[in-house]
Amino acid sequence: MAGTGNFGLRFDNSHIRDLPGTFLPQPPHKAPAPTLLQFNAALAEELGADVPALEARAVDLFSGNLLPNGAEPVAQAYAGHQFGGFSPQLGDGRAVLLGEVIDRQGRRRDLALKGSGPTPFARNGDGMAAVGPVLREYLMGEAMAALGVPTSRALAAVATGAQVLRGRALPGAVLARIAASHLRVGTFQFFAARGQYDQVRRLADYAIARHHPQAAEAENRYLALFDAVAVAQARLVAQWMGLGFIHGVMNTDNMTISGETIDYGPCAFMEGYSPGTVFSSIDRQGRYAYGNQPQVLGWNLARLAETLLPLFDADEARAVDLANARLDRIAGLYEAEWLRIMRRKLGLEGEAATDAALAEDFLVLIAGVDWTRAFRALAPAVRNDGALRTVLAKPAGREEGPRHVLPADPAGPEHWLLRWRARLAPDAGARIAAANPVYIPRNLLVEEALANAEAGDMARFERLLAVVGVPFTERPGLEAYVLPAPEAFARGFRTFCGT
Ligand code: AMP
Ligand code: MG
Repeated sequence: MAGTGNFGLRFDNSHIRDLPGTFLPQPPHKAPAPTLLQFNAALAEELGADVPALEARAVDLFSGNLLPNGAEPVAQAYAGHQFGGFSPQLGDGRAVLLGEVIDRQGRRRDLALKGSGPTPFARNGDGMAAVGPVLREYLMGEAMAALGVPTSRALAAVATGAQVLRGRALPGAVLARIAASHLRVGTFQFFAARGQYDQVRRLADYAIARHHPQAAEAENRYLALFDAVAVAQARLVAQWMGLGFIHGVMNTDNMTISGETIDYGPCAFMEGYSPGTVFSSIDRQGRYAYGNQPQVLGWNLARLAETLLPLFDADEARAVDLANARLDRIAGLYEAEWLRIMRRKLGLEGEAATDAALAEDFLVLIAGVDWTRAFRALAPAVRNDGALRTVLAKPAGREEGPRHVLPADPAGPEHWLLRWRARLAPDAGARIAAANPVYIPRNLLVEEALANAEAGDMARFERLLAVVGVPFTERPGLEAYVLPAPEAFARGFRTFCGT
């Protein structure tokens, strides 16, 4: 199986050396008749691969049928709160970590296969993934990367030739995924729940060295680690909020210690702005609705803090005080990140005390309006607000009829535009265009692309991938990619985990 070279991938599997007891050896299962769906040559280049050689064997390598030299496949253990309920044992049920690759810039990056067959953590699952969800993860991750959001990346997608049963028979697939690491809040929970604090400490030391090295300098390195994770995750969620991104399953096993977005399942971009927007079919209570994501951030970080208590201080009461002081600050930390992003999106100059109100009042103005278009329309509105008014008059999914935004409407844009203009940076138009995308993965277009791909036609997927890969530059001929879905589609739009 191995012995065919490393294709330029420089493996150095630090987790095998430094984190014994946190994984089980697990080779990927063989795919019966693999075919390559997609290969990310630019990312392969970034990783330092011999790209032609890697691409030539991509179908074997990323189906799991061939292991590159240096790979040591394992399934990682983790626990997690899923929709608030604790599962002490989740783990990689259908994924294997092949190893860590040192990329061209010397960065350490995990290479994993998802959908490569059951592992000892599979419980009753089949260990497989279907083409649709695999390509959704591919597309969403690449779109987020292009939008400047920390995220796992897709190196390749391979159809396995096997069928997976998800109510009906679907074509199976494997995603080759690159991530800063796969350490999750749930990884810490797995060992803390078992009282294995030597492992928690080892994980914390490893996470500090790999992701947050500045914490090693602190007087209390574990508190500093917690602070660094809190900042990284707060920044991440603020970026999601700025883009109208709804992760959909912010369980603690899906929140990384690195602060990258990971585990794209039922995620989607909100079109018509409404804080209660939920797409996931399994999120019946709306726990992970758009507007709840900042709250969930804090809740998840509280779960991380609990796992670290004995490391914060040997005295339990003191450890709890230290943790609570940290947790009290998270809402403020998030607010500051959100405001920083809103200032960029609105093209504001410097900082004024009224900026948060200005941003919030814009959100009132765009209720029901397409989130992405509304913000992008601010760029030309610096000079001429005609386009903005047109967008504001058209709630997303109801393109047919204007709503009542009369020039004299006190809740209309007049007053807001005056306040906004008074705060604009000199080059606001360019700044706004650089902060607000034209192109995001539009729900209807994603669904159509995935349906075609499932039927064997990758053309739409590839076109959409190319469009969302350059999100900030408006290009002629791509008008169909900027519109929200019609209401008939939007009303019934649901996303699925694909498990
Ligand atoms: P997810 O909802 O993808 O974040 O997965 C939650 C947990 O369920 C993880 O432990 C996964 O490894 C596991 N899981 C999800 N789908 C499958 C599957 N088809 N086979 C085995 N395990 C799975
Ligand atoms: Mg997950």
